[in-house]
Amino acid sequence: MGLLKHLECSLCNREYDAHVLQGMCPVCARPLQARYDLEAARERGKDALISTEPSMWRYRALLPVQNDANIVSLGEGFTPLLHARRLGKRLGLSRLYIKDESLNPTGSFKARGLSAAVSRALELGVTDVVVPSAGNAAGAMSAYAARAGLGAHVYMPADVPAPFRMECQALGADIRLVKGLITDCGRKAREDAEENGWFDVSTLKEPYRLEGKKTMGYELAEQFGWELPDVIIYPTGGGTGLIGMWKAFAELTDLGWIGDHLPRMVTVQATGCAPIPMALEAGEEFATFFEGAHTVAAGLRVPSAVGDFLMLIALRESGGTALAVSDEELVEAQMRLARLEGTFACPEGGAALAALETLLAQGWVSPDERIVLFNTGTGLKYPDVFEDL
Ligand SMILES: *Cc1c(COP(=O)(O)O)cnc(C)c1O
Repeated sequence: MGLLKHLECSLCNREYDAHVLQGMCPVCARPLQARYDLEAARERGKDALISTEPSMWRYRALLPVQNDANIVSLGEGFTPLLHARRLGKRLGLSRLYIKDESLNPTGSFKARGLSAAVSRALELGVTDVVVPSAGNAAGAMSAYAARAGLGAHVYMPADVPAPFRMECQALGADIRLVKGLITDCGRKAREDAEENGWFDVSTLKEPYRLEGKKTMGYELAEQFGWELPDVIIYPTGGGTGLIGMWKAFAELTDLGWIGDHLPRMVTVQATGCAPIPMALEAGEEFATFFEGAHTVAAGLRVPSAVGDFLMLIALRESGGTALAVSDEELVEAQMRLARLEGTFACPEGGAALAALETLLAQGWVSPDERIVLFNTGTGLKYPDVFEDL
């Protein structure tokens, strides 16, 4: 028997049946979240619930798929937590770590969310999935849909770097290029999805990508011996990773698997698209649409996010912060990650390091703290960034 109990709206707290296909809350159009019987899980104990499988599915007892036969996996998750000794020495930090998500299938942590969402969609009878994407989500969805035998429809900004487009093409997806931003892609995708009966797996518009992303929080806990770090620095777009980890930490607390020390969560965005730092600073509950969004870090080019209020809650509850770095700073930091640690990071990963350097200069982090930088994907898909170097 699975531990999944029901779905709950993250804004109005209404409950919904988890065993039928659901999108967002039909009342307030905000994200639904999966709730589990954590009391039963606590009784069974950690050792009985975590398998030895070297992927995120080692935590399958706390994931939504009911029948293992429906798991669509390419070996996602269980990525390395690297002790960054040379970079740390340069910065005066002895306990700096890189969670390297570039080793995931399709080269980014989007694999986690799409593995969970496609598995659960397959389980609930979906035949076609659709996503608007700035790049990596489209590639990941195309790969998992191919493996599951589902139809894949992706909507990308027309100026998306070529490797993202080629990847989806090779994986057999139906590709639509849209003039504009991810929000414009979203509008078009939604229209076509409604017309054709495709299932929309956009960020936080169905409940299960979040479940895949939360495994990053479980992994950090396990890799650190069930003692969470002091600071997590995370390049944030739609926010699934940040919100997912914060959900994981709440679940781990309820399970009694960790103590009461929780990390301060840090959102990093680009100065060309920074709705979350602006909303946090202004004390707002929701963020305002960011006009004219532009940055080389495609994953951060999200001017408006349906989970904005959940990111702001995680940042405030954790005593964290949000900041923006310029494209110049993040590309330079990307080079330092490569040359000092051998990690050929995506620009978003570079942004995390640039943010850490700013926070250190401000005294917001101290030298003895345990700090985790997220490198969310591989640098290989962004040839334009390196052309001018
Ligand atoms: C999507 C993406 C992000 C942003 O992730 P969210 O969880 O949606 O905030 C960051 N980096 C890369 C490489 C991405 O593809």
